[in-house]
This record gives sequence, structure tokens and C-alpha cells, in this order.
Amino acid sequence: MMNEKEVIKAAEQAYSMFSKKHKVDVFLEFLNEEEFFDLSSRSRIIHEEMKEGLPIKVGSLVVHSGRKETIVLCKDVINLLTKDPEFIKALVLHELFHVLDRSKVKGQDMLDFIASEDRVHKDFKKEFPKYAEMLEI
Ligand SMILES: [Zn+2]
Repeated sequence: MMNEKEVIKAAEQAYSMFSKKHKVDVFLEFLNEEEFFDLSSRSRIIHEEMKEGLPIKVGSLVVHSGRKETIVLCKDVINLLTKDPEFIKALVLHELFHVLDRSKVKGQDMLDFIASEDRVHKDFKKEFPKYAEMLEI
């Protein structure tokens, strides 16, 4: 079981790794399980599920909050998925690529989300192959 401190540390390390290559301005937010599921059920960006058809990799998501994007993580959900801090970094890096990709997303339908997933995955794999592979089945 990773505690909140370990999850936060891994997430911040991922943000710092990504920031060396790209300028992004995001908040990292940590929610409890109830808040997280409430938010995920309202979010239209549970893209991984749509694409893979499996309820995996939903320990994180990106939401708009005013002008700044927020990457939301849930310690309890993450602990169900993994015991490996490196996996958290992979999740956060993936979401950071979505933040970067945001301006290319034209619409709000499934095809737009799938196209975004493809671009994100390609860029992610090119720059951080080791982490990108962790999210592949
Ligand atoms: Zn994604």
C-alpha cells in the first residue's frame, strides 16, 4: 500500500521530468475515492476505458478548472492498480501529454477522444518509451 505522500512524490517527479521537455502549467490534485468516482462518472474523458474497453488506468484524469488544467489522482484507486511508484509516473506523464494535446482536440465526441489517445500515445512512446510501455497491455 502506498501512502498519500508516496503517491504525491511520484506524481511530482513525473511533472518535473515532463517539465524539462515541455512547458505546461497544471495543478495536481488528490481526491479521496468517493470524490474521485463522483468526478470520473461526470467526466467525459475516461478515454482509456473507451479505447481499451476495460476499466483500467482510471487512477487519474485531467479536468479543466478555469484557465488551468488539473490532473486528478486518487490514492485508493491507484493502490488497486499498482504498488509501483513508477506506474504512477507513467499515469501522470500520460495525462500531461493530454494537456499538451488539448489544443488539437477539435470536438467532444468519441472520434475526437480516440484521435487524441492515438496522438498522446505516439508522443509519449517517443519521449518516454519505458513509461509508455507500462500502460500497454
Ligand atoms: Zn489518455
